[in-house]
Amino acid sequence: MALAPHVFCKNPECSCADGLLPIPLPYPNQPKTNQHPSVWPPAYFEEAIACPECDRVFVYKKQDVRWLPIPQMVQGQAQKSPYSNASWWLVTFDCGGYNCKIRVGFLAMTREGEAVDVVHRKLPVGAYEGKCKSGHHYTDRGTGPYMVTQFFEFEGS
Ligand SMILES: [Zn+2]
Ligand SMILES: [Zn+2]
Repeated sequence: MALAPHVFCKNPECSCADGLLPIPLPYPNQPKTNQHPSVWPPAYFEEAIACPECDRVFVYKKQDVRWLPIPQMVQGQAQKSPYSNASWWLVTFDCGGYNCKIRVGFLAMTREGEAVDVVHRKLPVGAYEGKCKSGHHYTDRGTGPYMVTQFFEFEGS
């Protein structure tokens, strides 16, 4: 059975919370190398990821990553998850908290058929709820400038 790494949203009220709808990480379904799932992610793995349902951003570490079955081909058709063919974007900006210049970075997903505009529209209205490493809310930032670049896969994959 083909497995791929996923996380569950850390917002307990979310439809992606633990045991519900898993969020697939931007990791190739068919790794180029024959790594055993236990090899990835590395121990130092730590990524801020925005939930595609509730837009809350949490930091995920190695122990948060679950290798789960990916949709299988059924009668020649891949079963679709809501996140099939999703795209991932790396959003970065300077924290605007007092005396804080931490460079904040997190990953945000757009679904199949959605353009990066979706991410750009959510940023200035504070849709993504997260904190910098010093605990300042993203909304301290005000409105941009934000850098948004497409993110393909994690290193070490
Ligand atoms: Zn969520
Ligand atoms: Zn800060």
